[in-house]
Amino acid sequence: MKIWIARPMTAAVTARAREAFADLEIRGTNAVMSEAEMLRALAEFDIVVPTLGDKFSAEIFAKAGTPRCKLLANFGVGYNHIDVAAARAAGVEVTNTPGAVTDATADIAMTLILMSARRASEGERMLRKGDWEGWHPTQMLGLHATGKRVGIAGMGRIGQAIARRCHYGFGMDVSYVARSPKDLDFPADRAESLIDLAGQVDFLVVAVPGGAETTHLINAEVLGAMQSHAHLINIARGEVVEEAALIEALQNRRIGGAGLDVYEFEPKVPQALIDLDNATLLPHLGTATEEVRSDMGHMALDNVAAYLAGAALPNRV
Ligand code: NAP
Repeated sequence: MKIWIARPMTAAVTARAREAFADLEIRGTNAVMSEAEMLRALAEFDIVVPTLGDKFSAEIFAKAGTPRCKLLANFGVGYNHIDVAAARAAGVEVTNTPGAVTDATADIAMTLILMSARRASEGERMLRKGDWEGWHPTQMLGLHATGKRVGIAGMGRIGQAIARRCHYGFGMDVSYVARSPKDLDFPADRAESLIDLAGQVDFLVVAVPGGAETTHLINAEVLGAMQSHAHLINIARGEVVEEAALIEALQNRRIGGAGLDVYEFEPKVPQALIDLDNATLLPHLGTATEEVRSDMGHMALDNVAAYLAGAALPNRV
């Protein structure tokens, strides 16, 4: 069985993969896979471990014909870069790495809530430029986060982990929208609609999966419904937020600020967004810790190992 891992991994994951799989190739670059590489992946390997940005689209599967590859063991919980229906139709299973990413991504949401509310990036930039003239009672006043209301769009694993942190850590009230009923172990109100939710909350946090169904879920109408002091936080996928509408809302001070970990045309970040003081911009750091990236890698390898053993795939999507 030939296996291709599409990015360099942490030392622990690399060591396990080299030990466990005799015919293994690990791609030496962090660039997303080109079309030619994806076609090679499907034609020459039995199992591929792709990740964010590797666009295994319906067109790629159409060009690949009948692939040798039987499993895309995605590294990451989000798999909106893979057309799962097209993969299945071509006889390729898809797995992901849920759970391993939950706490770290919720922590990044909290980082963004606090940085955006308390103007942390803006303050740090001012200090580094040498423009800080010292403490005074009305310097850089931000939004007090404790005791406010947070709205969660997408009350899944990560949405719930964010809500718990907000409620138990910061005394916040929690509202949310969901498509299916939720059995929650903390107090939370279900809003009638996303527009209602947007109008109620001080922080609107986006935690839905990406993909066609959620593209531009957060648009001008949703941003227009938000209170003028409220902050939008996106740790989900860039395309869920209509970036041009967000830039306009921030430029016109329609909302208080935005904290973003992901971007619509990632890794391109529009200069207009970079120029805004009321935008806090992180380079997709959600799961970026050694432990979590190793846990994700091990989970992907568990799926590979299960396939090789003929066992049920632990994380089939
Ligand atoms: P999850 O447990 O599947 O939760 C997603 C939730 O969103 C589910 O509860 C889902 O369905 C809800 N949802 C889906 N479409 C919706 C819609 N149109 N309106 C309202 N709710 C909708 O997934 P997760 O583990 O929490 O991960 C969520 C996403 O976070 C991933 O797909 C990934 O893209 C992103 N992520 C980002 C990072 C990062 O580095 N920034 C790291 C990890 C994950 P129901 O409402 O029916 O329950």
